[in-house]
Amino acid sequence: MGKSKGEMWQYFWQGAKANSSQYRATCLGCIRHHLGKVDLNDAETVDFDSDEAAFKNACIAAGSVLGEKNAMIAHILGGEKPCRYASNTATVTAKALRKRIQDTRKKGKRERDGSSGDDEGPGDISEPAPSKRRRAVDRVEKHQTKRKVFKGISIPFSDEEEKTIHTQFTRATISANLPFQWVEDPEIIKLFSMFRSCAGNVIPSSKVLAGRLLQEEERVGEEQKETLKNENVTLT
Ligand SMILES: [Zn+2]
Repeated sequence: MGKSKGEMWQYFWQGAKANSSQYRATCLGCIRHHLGKVDLNDAETVDFDSDEAAFKNACIAAGSVLGEKNAMIAHILGGEKPCRYASNTATVTAKALRKRIQDTRKKGKRERDGSSGDDEGPGDISEPAPSKRRRAVDRVEKHQTKRKVFKGISIPFSDEEEKTIHTQFTRATISANLPFQWVEDPEIIKLFSMFRSCAGNVIPSSKVLAGRLLQEEERVGEEQKETLKNENVTLT
């Protein structure tokens, strides 16, 4: 498998398409285990697909994750429970890659904290840095370390997950009729951090929530109304 595909794919079998751009991924270590061929290395495990039926069954028994680097790393290293069957090189690669991702995120966070930063990365200059929220998040994180408050598992969110979470923040805000500032409340941030310790990275600022995210949600609502209207026309 080429390097361009992402280095974690050396340790995963590519399964069915999960969506327009991603595939399901099954851990080669887990496949080996279910094949009863624990002595194979990762490359040999891939070659073992010549015994189609056995390989297929092992894949089904092993289960799959989304073929996206964060999900694949999470399978190998685990939140609390790492994969017992992954090869040593898979673990080493996953650890190195996770560190690189975390370093990039930290760097991004520092840049966002600066006065000229923005929440969504370069190219989106309409929304200034959510420095108030970021400060609240940092305060909560510091406080948690100091008081040894129970902390959620530490798995970074993918960009796709962050987008879905943002949409859900908008819907939850509208549904429960919450003020937009609720996302910056330290007790709320503390609550979410109990589920995932890096939740603070994906909680939108109240400004982004009341601005871009709300607009996007309204646009989706309009489109759905439009579709329904058209369907009614064809039905009658
Ligand atoms: Zn595994």
